[in-house]
Amino acid sequence: MKSDYIWIDGQLIPYAEATVHMLTGTLHYGYGAFEGIRAYATERGAAIFRLREHLERFIGSARVLGLVEFPYTQDELRAAVHQTIRVNGFQGCYIRPLLYFDGAMGLNMDAATPHVSIATWEWGAYLGDEGLEKGVHMMVSSFTRHHINVTMTKAKITGNYANSVLAKTLALRAGYDEAIMLDPEGYVAECSGENLFLVRKGVVYTPPRATILEGITRDSVITLLGDLGYSVVEEPISRDQLYLADEVFACGTAAEVTPVRMIDHRPVGDGRRGPVAKALQDLFFQTVRGEGQRSAEWLDYVA
Ligand code: PMP
Repeated sequence: MKSDYIWIDGQLIPYAEATVHMLTGTLHYGYGAFEGIRAYATERGAAIFRLREHLERFIGSARVLGLVEFPYTQDELRAAVHQTIRVNGFQGCYIRPLLYFDGAMGLNMDAATPHVSIATWEWGAYLGDEGLEKGVHMMVSSFTRHHINVTMTKAKITGNYANSVLAKTLALRAGYDEAIMLDPEGYVAECSGENLFLVRKGVVYTPPRATILEGITRDSVITLLGDLGYSVVEEPISRDQLYLADEVFACGTAAEVTPVRMIDHRPVGDGRRGPVAKALQDLFFQTVRGEGQRSAEWLDYVA
């Protein structure tokens, strides 16, 4: 996760000096917000995938958290992301904006001081290159996804992710690659950091938005599947529907489009990447590399 510089409050800080104090409120109580964005190498240089939508969600997360005034405009954040990528000389990279609070330490956010940082690093496939090709093994986690009125599923609030950390860590310790989380009613919600799709008898399904993070990759996947001639049905999905699916795949900025070959030791379909996931991956990677019909609309090229 190394880079030369991390952007903090308008300054480019050398990597080793980009630190916070022990009494940073966000560390103790989890009030902060973050984003996860990717830039890809294209023929025209680095291109950031759906930057506008990610920055809108970043500012939206702060609004859900209750920050009265975000310290930067979307245009200023965009310029900062471009600058950070340029100064580090990256082509393909992951981009991590973070809103955090320090100063007066306690539960009253209004007494603390907001800061924004932007880190970048070169990053491979989150669930592994083999996972992209052969699919991954997921477990249905015993940890429940947040109730929608507990920590707000639409916002990437730092403290919310303790729930994902519990699920992901246990899944890895148990020998799986990722955790699928059910909502408090028992319907399939999402993974620890990805949205989920299934295919059954030629129809693609995904859980409705109410209880999940509105993934930007999820939105892109719905559009790309439409371009491929598939319509996507958004409806509540049960655990056994996952077991009966012909294909399951996960998507997210980090995981991109990753097929699921097995869930709870039950092979999904024939236990290999299916044709819908393969066609979608091909179109997705073509798009992010600047070679797709949607590339012009979705890519922000770093000058
Ligand atoms: N769900 C959760 C809980 C996530 O953390 C993420 C990653 N941001 C996603 C879904 C996928 O969202 P996106 O495609 O916008 O990265």
